Amino acid sequence: VTDRRALRWNGWGPVDQPDPLTGRPGFWALVADAVGATTLPETPAQELETVRLPPPLAAPHLRRLEELLGSEAVLTDRRERAARARGRSYPDLVALRAGDATSAPAAVVLPATTEQVLALLSFAAETGSPVVPIGGGTSVVGGVSGPPWPWIAVDTARMSSVLEVDEVNRTATAGAGIDGPALEAALNERGYTLGHFPQSFRHSTLGGWIAASGAGQQSNRYGRAADWMLRATVATPSGAWRTEAFPWSAAGPRLGSLLVGSEGVLGILTEATVRIRRLPEVRDYRGYIFPDFASGAAAVRSAVQNDCRPAMLRLLDPAETRFLGAVERLGRSPSLTSRVFARVVIARGAGATPCLLIGGFEGGKEEAERSRRDTERHIRREGGIPVGARPGRSWYASRFDLPALRDVLLARGVGVDTVETAGPWSDLSHLKASIGSALERAIAEEAPGRHGLVLAHLSHSYPEGAALYFTFVFPQRLGDEIEQWRRIKQAVSETIVSAGGTITHHHGIGEDHRPWLAAEKGDVGIELLRALKATLDPSGVLNPGTLLPDRVEDR
Ligand SMILES: Cc1cc2nc3c(=O)[nH]c(=O)nc-3n(C[C@H](O)[C@H](O)[C@H](O)COP(=O)(O)OP(=O)(O)OC[C@H]3O[C@@H](n4cnc5c(N)ncnc54)[C@H](O)[C@@H]3O)c2cc1C
Repeated sequence: VTDRRALRWNGWGPVDQPDPLTGRPGFWALVADAVGATTLPETPAQELETVRLPPPLAAPHLRRLEELLGSEAVLTDRRERAARARGRSYPDLVALRAGDATSAPAAVVLPATTEQVLALLSFAAETGSPVVPIGGGTSVVGGVSGPPWPWIAVDTARMSSVLEVDEVNRTATAGAGIDGPALEAALNERGYTLGHFPQSFRHSTLGGWIAASGAGQQSNRYGRAADWMLRATVATPSGAWRTEAFPWSAAGPRLGSLLVGSEGVLGILTEATVRIRRLPEVRDYRGYIFPDFASGAAAVRSAVQNDCRPAMLRLLDPAETRFLGAVERLGRSPSLTSRVFARVVIARGAGATPCLLIGGFEGGKEEAERSRRDTERHIRREGGIPVGARPGRSWYASRFDLPALRDVLLARGVGVDTVETAGPWSDLSHLKASIGSALERAIAEEAPGRHGLVLAHLSHSYPEGAALYFTFVFPQRLGDEIEQWRRIKQAVSETIVSAGGTITHHHGIGEDHRPWLAAEKGDVGIELLRALKATLDPSGVLNPGTLLPDRVEDR
């Protein structure tokens, strides 16, 4: 069971997380330069004791919940409610750090079985209390940022057992609240893996991965939630639903797919059966340098279209290559080998602003080797230069660590957020250029005389297109941080949609992306989603205010 008391209530990772800046003395100079500042302010977070919270649920309702779930499963103390007041998006963190937990639930409940969730949903429908399923609470799109008070947070942490590992059918069934490390540990013990490693892996859950339609870093090999989810059990106000579990079936549309990306508005997943793979014998991660982003993207396209089967191909643009290289080198004087290496790269034609591609190859020894050889053929053809295992190993070792830097930056008046999208190969360079300049423009408008830093990488790839992921760092407008962010977000979201990208490849819709959903689904599609919601949740208690756009007449 994930113990939330061991995690920061207003930030990322464990309470006793080591300082991510240890051994990086030049970090602040690098950041100040990135945002065009000479000094950075101190902007510490409020203490939990001073945070503003709404009152807990009324006593008669609390008593009823305790009767249904047991008193140990109903929590109302300050820390438990503040920790679930919001997810982990930029505005979530800004609000919590400023002591604003007014979005906190009136109670946190931890049901242990599907039956208990059904009973809870009956109570919610009867009393008109909104309920929000929360797995790890790592949503970055306002997926768990709370409807108006009084709402109930349904933490899935007690539904976290591995119920079956079926080696014949290569599937595993587990409670939806199991977190990444617990699920992988149980599978690894038997020689298997799910292979779903989002950057939030340590603190997110199986149910959250499915409900938010997530993608792990190695999605090329292991697929996204949409690919590996075989069956789910979901509790809805209209009753329990176990979806179909055939390897495939032509008996009408596959209804289980409706739960992928359902974001807690159709029901609460209590269990899921997933496809698993043998643990790879080899995890081989390496670096390649390209003279520019276009040639790197051409190599990725060619490799995935020619069935080379890499586990991951992650192409950093020049700015991200440069910035991550600089962070990596902080506190170390460049060794002779790395200086020689830099000269060799330049001499071999990669230019002064190279793009780094991290290639990951996994599987049995021969399989991983074949995949690497096949992929490298396409890399070389497009002008890529293999630069050895060091960049790959270094990326792999720190692949879950970077988010800890967000808290550190927010404590010095520096904002950092991400946006992501996907589009066809033919539009990718236009999409990247449009989003990059929209971000730069929006940041400049918000911080006259200063600037920001916009980094991008190609993160997931398919034969027909790829996903782009942008990180932007900017000086905060102190006292107006959330409105500043809203204006930047609005500008970049409009650009994404008008340039032909999806509003999200894997973060989901939540509250933040709702205005752009209809552009992708169409009016009929939105009505279909509303009809599904009306069937499964007729009184509308499940996670109101997320996923579905407001009706025009409700605005
Ligand atoms: C630093 C960081 C890095 C990230 N990296 C990635 C990444 O690489 N790939 C990626 O895909 N995402 C990433 N995310 C986004 C987030 O981690 C994912 O969306 C993840 O799948 C959410 O899982 P969770 O358990 O935290 O769900 P939560 O945040 O708790 O919930 C997400 C949504 O799912 C609903 N939900 C949760 N559990 C259930 C359930 N049992 N039944 C029904 N609905 C449910 C919630 O109501 C909410 O709408 C990242 C987030 C952060 C903060």
